Amino acid sequence: MIPVERRKTVAVDIDGVVIGGTAPVVVQSMTNTDTADVDGTVTQIRQLVDAGSELVRVTVNNEDAARAVPEIVSQLRESGYPTPIIGDFHYNGHLLLKKFPETAIALSKLRINPGNVGTKHRDKNFTEIIEVAVEHDKPVRIGVNWGSLDQRLLTELMNENASRQSPRDGGEVVLEAMVQSALRSADLAEQNGLRHDQIVISTKVSSVRDLVSVYRMLSARCDYPLHLGLTEAGLGAKGIVATTAGLAPLLLDGIGDTIRVSLTPKPGGDRAEEVRVAQQVLQSLGIRHFEPQVTSCPGCGRTTSTFFQEMAEEITEYIQEMIPQWRSSYPGVEEMDVAVMGCVVNGPGESKHANIGISLPGTFEEPKAPVYIDGAHAITLKGEGLVEEFKEILFDYVKGTYGAGRE
Ligand code: SF4
Repeated sequence: MIPVERRKTVAVDIDGVVIGGTAPVVVQSMTNTDTADVDGTVTQIRQLVDAGSELVRVTVNNEDAARAVPEIVSQLRESGYPTPIIGDFHYNGHLLLKKFPETAIALSKLRINPGNVGTKHRDKNFTEIIEVAVEHDKPVRIGVNWGSLDQRLLTELMNENASRQSPRDGGEVVLEAMVQSALRSADLAEQNGLRHDQIVISTKVSSVRDLVSVYRMLSARCDYPLHLGLTEAGLGAKGIVATTAGLAPLLLDGIGDTIRVSLTPKPGGDRAEEVRVAQQVLQSLGIRHFEPQVTSCPGCGRTTSTFFQEMAEEITEYIQEMIPQWRSSYPGVEEMDVAVMGCVVNGPGESKHANIGISLPGTFEEPKAPVYIDGAHAITLKGEGLVEEFKEILFDYVKGTYGAGRE
């Protein structure tokens, strides 16, 4: 696989988790609990972290939420969760952070949306938040969102565009306004004492093509690390596919230092799904590895029974069950590829490309399943105990390849 060349950015240290520089692309998430509900928020943060979130953001939307933050962070630390917590501020961040300095101290990073810091006193309010960040040595994400874009700046750029001989498309001007809003705010933050290596930027939109365009524009004009995400991605398959379609071209161009997947969960659904999707996006692109991957074919008319689907599912579940233990005992196992294939057409070829693979017999094929290890035929399995036998072979492979005694 040809490696992805990352765009050069400064490294921003978020209490031990680095965004940018040579650090791996960081997975982050956001809670949807009422932050004032300390127990509910702590529980959800733990779930997100257990799923693999390396940074977690909480909204700090009112005084009750601001008051709850130090207690949330303290409970997390006491229960062995060192994950940095980010505060998301809109409209009243300057007031809350001044009134509750303990909140600013407990947070590892502040997120400011420059379109939501007021109209008349926009720069003053923004500067007041930056002063708090400087005082407590906290990095900041300047998070522009097209749903709350600075209207004064947009109007200024629209008027300027209208007076051109050949005006640009209005959509392009909106993206330009987003980039300028982010960069002007970053400049203002630095003028007020925030260090260059304390700034992360995002310019989120909900259209896939605009997302790719705006981040390409932004990445060409600064070396701040970038937080990528398709805002309001939506529910289920739509949200997952749209997010992946938007993030993939950027990540493959080396753009993006941290990602968040903004899925709308079903009522009562699992918030940690957004973490698993983010990990899968990075893993599918070969940018980071989180757990072994199972490659399985879709099946077709050559597989008349459901045995092959059941086996693919059972092996995937087995790996998911074992991975927490394997990760600590067998470092590197996250990079393992396992193939479970339905017939002789692509089965042996795909299995040979995997670390370990099995090619099941299709309809009218001899009832035997060759197993390939590191590209070579190792054994042929037959009969009813085939799935259990394959799991044993898989475990032996993990121990032999990633265990302490490996060559
Ligand atoms: S490997 Fe065989 S069973 Fe699987 S999709 Fe291809 S032809 Fe069908």
